Amino acid sequence: MSERQNLLRNLPAVDRVLREPDIQSLADQLPPAVLAEAVQSRIACLRQQLVAGGTESIDKTSLTPAAIAQCAAIYCLDILKPSLRKVINATGTLLHTNLGRAPLAPEALRAIHDVAAGYSTLEMDMSNGKRGERFSHVESLLCRLTGAEAALVVNNNAGAVLLALTALGRGQEAIVSRGELVEIGGAFRIPEVMEAGGVKLREVGSTNRTHLRDYESAIGEETAILLKVHTSNYRIVGFSGEVTSAELVELGREHQLVVMEDLGSGLLSDLSSYGLCPEPTVSEVVGSGVDVVTFSGDKLLGGPQAGLIVGRKDLVRKIAKHPLARALRIDKLTLAALEATLRLYLQPHRAQSEIPVLAMFAADPQSQRVRCEDLCRRLQEHNVAARVELVEDVSRVGGGAMPLTELPDWAIAIWPHQMSVTELAERLRGYVPALIARTRHDALLVNLRAVFSAEDYLLTRLLLSALQGEDHC
Ligand SMILES: *Cc1c(COP(=O)(O)O)cnc(C)c1O
Repeated sequence: MSERQNLLRNLPAVDRVLREPDIQSLADQLPPAVLAEAVQSRIACLRQQLVAGGTESIDKTSLTPAAIAQCAAIYCLDILKPSLRKVINATGTLLHTNLGRAPLAPEALRAIHDVAAGYSTLEMDMSNGKRGERFSHVESLLCRLTGAEAALVVNNNAGAVLLALTALGRGQEAIVSRGELVEIGGAFRIPEVMEAGGVKLREVGSTNRTHLRDYESAIGEETAILLKVHTSNYRIVGFSGEVTSAELVELGREHQLVVMEDLGSGLLSDLSSYGLCPEPTVSEVVGSGVDVVTFSGDKLLGGPQAGLIVGRKDLVRKIAKHPLARALRIDKLTLAALEATLRLYLQPHRAQSEIPVLAMFAADPQSQRVRCEDLCRRLQEHNVAARVELVEDVSRVGGGAMPLTELPDWAIAIWPHQMSVTELAERLRGYVPALIARTRHDALLVNLRAVFSAEDYLLTRLLLSALQGEDHC
């Protein structure tokens, strides 16, 4: 008999491998069928390798029951690894849409915990014990913070825009500037949202310039809404011009039209002192007389994913009564987090220090530099197989907000000696928690602006493991 036939015949049976300690240790976490399948597929893989490549192709020690069990166990651990899991964000982008946008304040987390663990006042009016409205928990807070008469919250801002347009303009026309036909990542395009809401789009002006008279001459029998959209993720610079909210409001009043503004990010406090491009706050827009303003909960506001609608009472009531409002309703955990986040804004100094994204904006480059130097030193002390250097970098807002804003910052650049930077990044993505950093040319850039200081130790550990070529950490 050839050696190959001999090895094939002597491949261990599935039952034998299942008795190995590596597999037995997983028996209380995974059903027997999953363990058996993992072992079977490892054996099948070895068999195929032997048949196709012969005995030369295989390391004989990989054929023992223990080695097969170890391999199958790694596969099983992957099944147990949560798919939606914690990430350390070392990209320098604070509202990274793919990484979940805004991290929540401790108060918001506590509120989620309290509401989720038991029953709550979600839809009960505690003054009379009768049925209440879920958004009532944040309405007065939002009115106080924005100066609006009424407020409503839904699942997200895309939903808020769709709902408001549908409720206020279905079958009629909304006038929008050609400079504001925005596409937000994830296929949210203003023209398509309007179509979905049954509102006819009437484009006016040109890409770079739109005048008040363009809106004025487009107003007709069917016009219901003058819509202004914040160009969150791009800027038109150079020979450009747009009509202000106040001018639109005046025109709307003259013709009895609803003036609506989709603000996108929705700033509740002025952030220009942090070196961010000036953006209108929600209060300013409400103050200019815009009838309905929509914005996100998880962008610059720093709360959970939500769509906030504030404005004139009669219009907000009409929006709340539309059947689509039920389909887009906010869930109780989000609502709990949103209420707690908004409440922090009542005390601006607390909002500033406790809402993570606001605190991250405020972090000064000098202290970021010190953190980076610390990390550099720790990596160098371990003699990692890489060149490690402090470099200048910039941080960004992200989340489709303030595209031109760059916060001066520092980062650690890592040039690994024993693997490509792509491999290093891939290894870091596989960890629990994962570490996500940027690559630039052949270096990994680790930016600490969006890394919580409590995560510094773990981040160092992950980098050390990855540079030492460990697949699991
Ligand atoms: C981000 C954004 C949206 C979508 O908001 P979500 O909360 O992500 O649904 C809509 N309009 C503008 C202008 C935006 O910037």
